[in-house]
Amino acid sequence: MYRALYRVWRPQRFDDLVGQQMITQTLKNAIMTHQTSHAYLFTGPRGTGKTSAAKIFAKAINCHHLVDGEPCNECATCKAITNGQLNDVIEIDAASNNGVEEIRDIRDKAKYAPTEADYKIYIIDEVHMLSTGAFNALLKTLEEPPANVIFILATTEPHKIPLTIISRTQRFDFRRISAKDSYDRMVYILQQKQVEFDEKALRVIAQAAEGGMRDALSILDQVISFGDNTVTLDDALMVTGSVTKKLIADYMEEVTQHVTKPALETMRQILQEGKDANRFIEDLISYTRDVLLYQQAPEMVDSVAMGENDQRFADFAKSIDAEVLYQMIKTLNDIQQQMRFTTHPDVYLEVLTVKLAQLEAPVSGAKPTAATAAVPDTAAVQQLTTKVDQLQAELQGLKANGVKAAPAKTARVKQNSNGPVIKKVNVSQVYPILGAATKDDLVQVREVWADLMNILSITQRALMHVAQPVAASDEGVVVAFDYPFLYQKAIDDQALMDALGNGLDRLMGHAPKLVCVPKEQWPQIRRDFLATHQPENSPAASQAPAKPAVVDQAEQLFGDLVEVKPD
Ligand SMILES: [Zn+2]
Repeated sequence: MYRALYRVWRPQRFDDLVGQQMITQTLKNAIMTHQTSHAYLFTGPRGTGKTSAAKIFAKAINCHHLVDGEPCNECATCKAITNGQLNDVIEIDAASNNGVEEIRDIRDKAKYAPTEADYKIYIIDEVHMLSTGAFNALLKTLEEPPANVIFILATTEPHKIPLTIISRTQRFDFRRISAKDSYDRMVYILQQKQVEFDEKALRVIAQAAEGGMRDALSILDQVISFGDNTVTLDDALMVTGSVTKKLIADYMEEVTQHVTKPALETMRQILQEGKDANRFIEDLISYTRDVLLYQQAPEMVDSVAMGENDQRFADFAKSIDAEVLYQMIKTLNDIQQQMRFTTHPDVYLEVLTVKLAQLEAPVSGAKPTAATAAVPDTAAVQQLTTKVDQLQAELQGLKANGVKAAPAKTARVKQNSNGPVIKKVNVSQVYPILGAATKDDLVQVREVWADLMNILSITQRALMHVAQPVAASDEGVVVAFDYPFLYQKAIDDQALMDALGNGLDRLMGHAPKLVCVPKEQWPQIRRDFLATHQPENSPAASQAPAKPAVVDQAEQLFGDLVEVKPD
């Protein structure tokens, strides 16, 4: 029977755990000096070694042949724990056992002394999945910990765990594993297995795994099975989906170099890779945004986003005019809108390709070569335009007959005549916050902001680097973003929005609603609000009659953190 690499090569000693030296050294010291805690919280992204560390800990604390804090892995106790056969080491997956009953069961059974080993160890994985009732039951146990019982709680989402629980544990934050560490571990394993490999292939895999060792080994498994016991670059690119990434880069270069025919061929190749038309457009939008982002702040685009060829991405970003990128996003959004109703997306993608290849930087005296190359194949364009007209006529017919399309994600898109396409700010969400905003609320949010940023992943934090809270009430926070396209990237990122909401909940004890705005629109939004929401009995206005009431009210609402410019 074939066993997955990550199972076979599951670390059995603290020193085998990749990239977590600080944590493993601390745990070894605690075991050697008999200063272990009753409860531990292991947090960190998936595949970073949390449950492996928990099992090694369970062995080390129960092993009678300890060497420098490491379990011997030879004695009966060690072997039984490795095989999951020791009754005193209990692994619980909270994702499947989230009921109060199970935890009550723990409470009852935890009272009894270990039967086979020195310590009874409960390892509760994905502990954030427990229900409130189960958390309360667990808290009772942690408040009066039975002797010789240790709880190890593991989670990818510590912000979902009640502070009352966290405060009773010793917390260890497992880091994402660096591409280098993950690369070294793969080299080690492949050498032990005597499997040949291309170093470049391992780099591609390490990058694709995004800091999870288990993911890296799972991908490596697939690549090995493809390559008949060798690891080739081609297979690694294919398995990680990097082929598509490369093709997207090809396509972007081709359309910006105005070579329509190769671009059309690349597009067909991408569709053959199994990508659907909508996904293709989403990928192009996201690639274009990354290029824009890289132009503004190169350090904010992580190398994972850039794919297997960082230099190529960087060169492309330097060569292309930002205005062209903005036009591309607009064109992509337009086509995405039109495609909502069609059953022939391929035609739209052809039109898209021709349109993109025609975009030019708005420079007077454009290079003559580029202009020549930009002349489209008019016959082909004409043909496509006719096809699209036909499809749109069909569509009008369908709509007239009452066929409704599902509301598309892009329905809220506002198209500016020039510049980037920005989703319109929903003032109906902003105004209630402004209506109840106080300086104190804003100060409170600002006080926890740094901690909130620390909860986020590195990529999320980089994105939020350009954002600040600008107004707050008890119920909501307005967050302004420096660049409009980053604002849009943020609001499209549900995981980020969830993390921010959960983080605020944890840090402030309640979860104010987060509403994002592009910073360039913020002064106007504020002015519009103040102009339309004059309070009848504004105390600020009566106290300081010398100043215009609007300015006064702005100061009262937003403190000295904003300047009110005269119109
Ligand atoms: Zn042992």
